[in-house]
Amino acid sequence: MALRKIVKNDLEFLGKKSRPVTVFDEKLAALIEDMRETLRKEEGAGLAAPQVGILRRIFIADIHCDGSIYKEFINPEIISATGKNDRYYEGCLSFPGRSFNVTRAHKVTMRAQDVKGEFFEFTAEDFVARCLLHEFDHLNGLTLPIVGKEVFEND
Ligand SMILES: [Zn+2]
Repeated sequence: MALRKIVKNDLEFLGKKSRPVTVFDEKLAALIEDMRETLRKEEGAGLAAPQVGILRRIFIADIHCDGSIYKEFINPEIISATGKNDRYYEGCLSFPGRSFNVTRAHKVTMRAQDVKGEFFEFTAEDFVARCLLHEFDHLNGLTLPIVGKEVFEND
């Protein structure tokens, strides 16, 4: 395993759309383990592959909000997104030191593949739903400066 370098403040690269994963092999498993190690060190809630320079549709997320499981979502699709949640500000490891107000759905169900290519559905609410939607956005090149309103200390 190895730490990966996080792409920071590069709107051109982070604005690119990621391609689907088609091969579920050892290389993919190693990438996901590296992403987990990187996210654990950074103490973040989620990390998308483009944030480590890989334009593939992969992200990991802290689904229990305690750092115990960084679950992988590969080729994710949104099955449903309901309700409105605009209570939290969001940060992003690619835009350190900045926070943004983003309105998101309160509850989301996603369908994705795991590291072995098996499909699963996962439903989350509130903070975890927000995290999943944030990471999903990364795969489409949508980052906080695009989808959010920046919050400054004096606001
Ligand atoms: Zn982010």
